[in-house]
Amino acid sequence: HYYPDQLEHLSSCKSPQQMFGAISKTYYAQKMGLDPEDIVCVSVMPCTAKKFEIDRDDQNAAGVPDVDISITTRELARLIRKLGIDFRSLPDEGFDDPLGESTGAGVIFGATGGVMEAALRTAVETLTGEELANVEFQEIRGTQGIKEAVYNVAGMNVKVAVASGLSNARNIMDKIRNGEADYHFVEIMCCPGGCVNGGGQPQVHADVRNYEDIKAARAKALYDNDKAKSIRKSHENPSIRKLYEEFLGEPGSEKAHHILHTSYVKRSIN
Ligand code: SF4
Repeated sequence: HYYPDQLEHLSSCKSPQQMFGAISKTYYAQKMGLDPEDIVCVSVMPCTAKKFEIDRDDQNAAGVPDVDISITTRELARLIRKLGIDFRSLPDEGFDDPLGESTGAGVIFGATGGVMEAALRTAVETLTGEELANVEFQEIRGTQGIKEAVYNVAGMNVKVAVASGLSNARNIMDKIRNGEADYHFVEIMCCPGGCVNGGGQPQVHADVRNYEDIKAARAKALYDNDKAKSIRKSHENPSIRKLYEEFLGEPGSEKAHHILHTSYVKRSIN
């Protein structure tokens, strides 16, 4: 639970971009015998806000910035075009190990409700000790600005809320502040529809945008990709299990907290 006074100063995990950077400069550096100073971490993100994030003063788990350069997906597409690379003729290849494995839970982070669904897949199995019959939480999918659901997990009614877009985020925050809602778990994405509709994503001409729900089409691509994955839950990712066994210890350990967590403070616009 977050209570009203906590809404001014939230402790949270870092963003996926920063967590990857932090792990690459600590765990990966140690495993490969590299000096973190010699690693340059470049992120490709749907988000322009990530460019600000790399300079925040608590994003340097190894004593050097977790991420060195953050470019948007739109910038990457421009670079590919500018260099004359025919992307479609390139052969497919896997990601490099030891951090090359991904799951469907990671893929759906890009759609509003996806982070919540990924967390629920793990939380439900952890709390019940049983395998989920169905890993898809349909009630929190879709592009509506606010979604609410109650799930009975191990005898508890877990109340969840998902908001995307800042006016919807305000609506949820006001409800919590005023004591009108007592959610156990809230997911907020600044961009309407989530990161699939982020400020760094390819722009779509109004001729198309006026007739197609682009964020819904992009979210569908993520959910289809999730469905096709052999592993769909984060806690079953062999790379993540190994990372905890070999390096971080237990989820929530002091080391995990130091490397993967940050806090957010209220900022003035002026
Ligand atoms: S929702 Fe928007 S602002 Fe938030 S991380 Fe995704 S792209 Fe960035």
